[in-house]
Amino acid sequence: EAMNTNDHPSELAAQGIKYVFAQFTDIHGAAKGKLIPLAHLDDIVHPGAGFSGPSIWGTGLPRNGPRSEYYGRADLSTLQPMPWLPGYARVVLDGHVAGQPFELCPRQVLRRQVERLAAHGWTLNAGLEPEFFLLQKGPNGYDSEAADMLEKPSYDSKSLLRQRGFLDKLSTSLDACGLGVFQIDHEDATGQFEVNYRYADALKAADNFMLFKMAAQHIAEEEGLLFSMMPKPFADRPGSGLHFHLSLADADGKPVFAAEDDVRGLGLSKNAYHFMAGLLLHAPALTALCAPTVNSYKRLMCGRSLSGTSWAPSFIGYGDNNRTTVARVVYQRVEWRLPDSSANPYLALAGVIAAGLDGIEQRLDPGEPVNHDVYELSDAARAELGLHMLPQNLGEAAAALKADEVLAAALGKALVAEFAALKSAEWNEYSQHVSAWETKRYLDRF
Ligand code: MG
Ligand code: MG
Repeated sequence: EAMNTNDHPSELAAQGIKYVFAQFTDIHGAAKGKLIPLAHLDDIVHPGAGFSGPSIWGTGLPRNGPRSEYYGRADLSTLQPMPWLPGYARVVLDGHVAGQPFELCPRQVLRRQVERLAAHGWTLNAGLEPEFFLLQKGPNGYDSEAADMLEKPSYDSKSLLRQRGFLDKLSTSLDACGLGVFQIDHEDATGQFEVNYRYADALKAADNFMLFKMAAQHIAEEEGLLFSMMPKPFADRPGSGLHFHLSLADADGKPVFAAEDDVRGLGLSKNAYHFMAGLLLHAPALTALCAPTVNSYKRLMCGRSLSGTSWAPSFIGYGDNNRTTVARVVYQRVEWRLPDSSANPYLALAGVIAAGLDGIEQRLDPGEPVNHDVYELSDAARAELGLHMLPQNLGEAAAALKADEVLAAALGKALVAEFAALKSAEWNEYSQHVSAWETKRYLDRF
């Protein structure tokens, strides 16, 4: 895999690279950074690229004094060209403040959880599955190229191949970066697609997702399209998720989640059940990290929505290849269906590790698998199965995160407080907004 090796600066110059985009991710999951002429790469390894701390979302840093400067130190193992932008390479930064790793830098938060796993001799492998809409600006705002609602849009051949220009550029670029694209399909909503690339360890999976997002946004813009991973852009179509396929590997790369003697018949080990039980126990708090926008909850709204079956989870449970619960067991791994792409991938994965490790350390059991279509069950039947609903809005989720002491201790009290405060404020702002729906419905009625 020659393309996958990280390039030395002198090799980058020979490849025509002039600038390095020194990139970090803010608390909201947006890619931020600076362009560094290649000759100045050394400066951003040490002391790092300097940024005004309080100008970055979610740092909580003061406007003056020694803790006001945020230094992003380049992790040279991530240095590689961005093939969709000839002449430009990317390097990922780790946040430092006052000479120390910064406890609110999302990548540092994930690093700490990865180290906790490493102390057990484990690596979390994560395959992230981005779904997205490709839209064009028309007379009625943004919509897909063929806005006519397809009756069963899943796997539609015409819509898929119509976008082959964008999809080929994206897939070729990602492959050149070593992501290993293996499937591209049209999803359950008109204008919606999914691109699948190879899993990686948690840190790399988060770095790769940010790379995917930057590449897709740029390529779409060049093609005159809008790429959007907004969780639910259309009320009458399914939303876009970012499922995480999760498994642990030991130091020899052997799967920790697989066991042939599973009495429940799912091929899972005890540690897989413990890990999954941790996810389910902490699901309300994880919702804030995995589905962190007002709009996320329109995707998660209970099972059957305006758009028919949305395939997004609403209930906390797991099952054998069950797409109607928040965790689906498939191929001796856990598909965690809660996240959407408004999540910061570092924080969502850090939360997943913290929750899973709590399950392992407490030897929690998730109970029996749920082998029902839970969208179809009555409230009484769900209650009997002990299936609780996920938080129903961002305010509930932020409150659940604030109340979860295990996650706060693992991820850092300051990070959780800052995140929950920003998200509570976002929810309050939305709640106070008077929408067109309300005035239409109520203005001349009362
Ligand atoms: Mg999908
Ligand atoms: Mg999936």
